[in-house]
Amino acid sequence: MSARATPLMLQHRAAKRAYPDAIVFFRLGDFYEMFEDDAVLCSRLLDLTLTSRNKGKPDEVPMAGVPHHAAHGYIGRLLSLGYNVAICEQMADPTTVKGIVPREVVRVLTPGTVTSSEHLDVSTNNWLAAIDVTAERVGIALLDVSTGELRAAGFPDLAGALGELSRSLPREVIAGGDGARSAQEPLPVAIRAVLGEVPVRDDAPLDAAALEAALGPLAGEAARGAVEVRGAVGRALRYARACSPGVDLPVRRIADFDPSEHLVLDPVAQRHLELVESPAGRKSTLLGTIDATRTPPGARLLRRRLLAPLTGVARIRRRLDQVELFVDDPRLREELRAALGAVGDLERLAVRAMLGEATPKDLGALRDGLVAARRAVEVVSGVEAPTGQEVLELDATVDTVDDVADALRAALCDRPPASEKEGAIFRDGFDVELDEAEKLRRHGTELMIALEAKLRDETGIATLKVRFTRVFGWYVEVTRSHTARAPSSWRRKQTVAGGERFTLPELDELADRIVHAEARHRERELSLLAELLVTVKAASDRVAALSERIARWDVAAALAEIAHRFDYRRPDVDASDVLAITDGRHPVVEQLAAAGRFVPNDVALEASAERLWIVTGPNMAGKSTLLRQVALSVVLAQLGSFVPAREARIGIVDRVLSRVGASDNLSRGESTFMVEMRETAEILRKATAKSLVILDEIGRGTSTFDGLAIAWAVAEYLDEAVRCRTLFATHYHELTALADTSEHVRNVSVSAEESDGDIVFLHRLVKGPASRSYGVAVAKLAGLPESVLARSRGLLEMLESGGNTAAPAPLATKRARKTPQLELFAGSAPSGNEREVLDTLRGVDVERLTPLDALSLVARMKGRLSKESKESKEPGKGGST
Ligand code: ADP
Ligand code: MG
Repeated sequence: MSARATPLMLQHRAAKRAYPDAIVFFRLGDFYEMFEDDAVLCSRLLDLTLTSRNKGKPDEVPMAGVPHHAAHGYIGRLLSLGYNVAICEQMADPTTVKGIVPREVVRVLTPGTVTSSEHLDVSTNNWLAAIDVTAERVGIALLDVSTGELRAAGFPDLAGALGELSRSLPREVIAGGDGARSAQEPLPVAIRAVLGEVPVRDDAPLDAAALEAALGPLAGEAARGAVEVRGAVGRALRYARACSPGVDLPVRRIADFDPSEHLVLDPVAQRHLELVESPAGRKSTLLGTIDATRTPPGARLLRRRLLAPLTGVARIRRRLDQVELFVDDPRLREELRAALGAVGDLERLAVRAMLGEATPKDLGALRDGLVAARRAVEVVSGVEAPTGQEVLELDATVDTVDDVADALRAALCDRPPASEKEGAIFRDGFDVELDEAEKLRRHGTELMIALEAKLRDETGIATLKVRFTRVFGWYVEVTRSHTARAPSSWRRKQTVAGGERFTLPELDELADRIVHAEARHRERELSLLAELLVTVKAASDRVAALSERIARWDVAAALAEIAHRFDYRRPDVDASDVLAITDGRHPVVEQLAAAGRFVPNDVALEASAERLWIVTGPNMAGKSTLLRQVALSVVLAQLGSFVPAREARIGIVDRVLSRVGASDNLSRGESTFMVEMRETAEILRKATAKSLVILDEIGRGTSTFDGLAIAWAVAEYLDEAVRCRTLFATHYHELTALADTSEHVRNVSVSAEESDGDIVFLHRLVKGPASRSYGVAVAKLAGLPESVLARSRGLLEMLESGGNTAAPAPLATKRARKTPQLELFAGSAPSGNEREVLDTLRGVDVERLTPLDALSLVARMKGRLSKESKESKEPGKGGST
């Protein structure tokens, strides 16, 4: 560091020292400048020109800047890249300060704590997650500063905590705690493995005093919670406070949540089911399909419910009752939805009011929102169904915050400006003093114009102008050629290129009155605004409560709208172990398919009876679609929605576990197979008798023998040990033999018809295994050359006839399926090595098997088999001497 650093750079370095992890936006006049490393980084990230300050001097430093009025966009980009931005402002008006202007960091903007609407997605909560790892347990807290929500829970281990966090997809994570260091994997690595690329901040230790300070007014409430929960809440609040120094956080209570009340959807299932995200875009997600909400808080609530459906029958039924009510009363639904369209984001407006950040424009939006909300409450109160009042939780006292709505209506003009600096906030006739100041101000300008005319007249200078600048105030300007005609009583003020600027007593006097009126007007406006903000701030909790209520109606009416539009039916949700869907459809695929082209199917599983379906059928028949549609209907039913089916009975599911397709995860340096095995192991470890497991083509990531062997063992384990409801799609026809040995297993297949070697997909589920794989027909569809197809057909026939006969066997040959054994090994009794491998497999305790063990086991078994085949292929080897 240069000893000759300028005072300005010293100021900058102090800010940087206080916030070393943030990019410092340093206010210099109309710009925010970044210096040193920040400048280099930002020039790259934001595509800014890198210049330098104090060029050529010993203390030359890299510099890059953005105009202050355009800063929002740049800050947004940095936040989305996971960076924090510290805003270092000028704390005084530079024109009134001698020497260097004092500067301070007034706010640190971080991805998880922003509150301004420019940086927020209206349909998503903006969660900051805090994790506190103690020696025994793990606490998590979720804080959305933009809505004032704070939720917390404790978990026995990190995996459980992260699994729960993955529902919320936080935008920023802070992690700390005594136990954090003892973890096998560095905490940020473990967190990113589950949550994806999210900024993770290493949090400083939190001692008792710091915890007390961090909890602040919530300390009493937090005391009820466990130590790890308190720690997590404290960390979240401490971080949020540090980001907004001197601001009262809008958090009023800690909502605990009990993870056991929610259907577990781990990140793998979330991804596979494309609940809220899909590589194909929002339209292809379940949320994108069912989100017909009309308010941002409603959209956020629906998203939250979708990622955390319930497991309690009573609560689910209460939600379904609401939806049903809006389905049965279309007029009520339509009127409510019309009113909701104008409500807007009352929740975040309430928070900005609480934070003192509400702009005049926000107040206008609050006014309009409250008026619309009152209308919505009126509509809902008119519900006619006999139990309607109860179902919609309408007690006598819905507080529509009328007093505030009325105050805002009386005060504000129709479209208040985004910034109070622009003025023109209030309605004419609202305040006598303000109106007077306004009249004077407007009048003053008119008088100036009149004075200009008068002076032109008196002097005969037609080009004379009366003008104003901030530095010189009001003056008369006369061009050079006419300066001689200026009266001698005028005082010369300034010489400019084109002429002279003068002043005279009459002008000064008028200017004074105008400036005075201007200042009075401004002062009055600001004080009225401050009063209004106090009123609104005092009512912000009431506004938040109203918003919450309206969000629930919004979600119910939206789900009813969807049920109406897409013909969904109310599911019968109970505590049984049944999962029976008649004419079920895939909610997303049916929308993307041509109207009426989606083929509905029935599924009926029962954990205590027929619990495992082996689904076979040609490629492209619809196996994956079927599996997913069942899982999605469970999610929909348990979040309290109607389902895409003619009828559905859904016994509560505690977890949806899925392993779909052979998606690569090569970016993490693991082979597809390893990922597949890791996920499969996870499923076997976590599934309970109340779970729903969907397995789609597991074993694909490895060779046929390994794959089949593993798929077989996994299916058996699910049937015999876990005993849960399972759908198992497979391309291994050999697996269909499982049905012969277990009464709980059934074979079904998605049908296709073949005529003349062409395949027609019927997408209809039928009993029994698929008869053939249709692979060659699909290949034809895909356009393989005829010669290749012909050769394949010949080979297929030869293989299907079970041997090396040269003469092709008839196509219809059906393989015997009497003995339940692996048909790949069929043809002769299993050899010694094969039997050994099978026995090994049967003896495997899958629950204890780590992915690595599984890998080495497979390698061993494979070794046994290939050794044998080598021996049998090279019979002469042993005898050569
Ligand atoms: P598989 O897993 O058997 O290879 P998919 O489930 O991926 O088949 O389905 C292949 C395509 O068939 C899907 O993209 C979808 O458009 C269509 N499809 C699947 N099921 C149905 C159905 N029940 N009705 C209409 N089209 C369907
Ligand atoms: Mg598939």
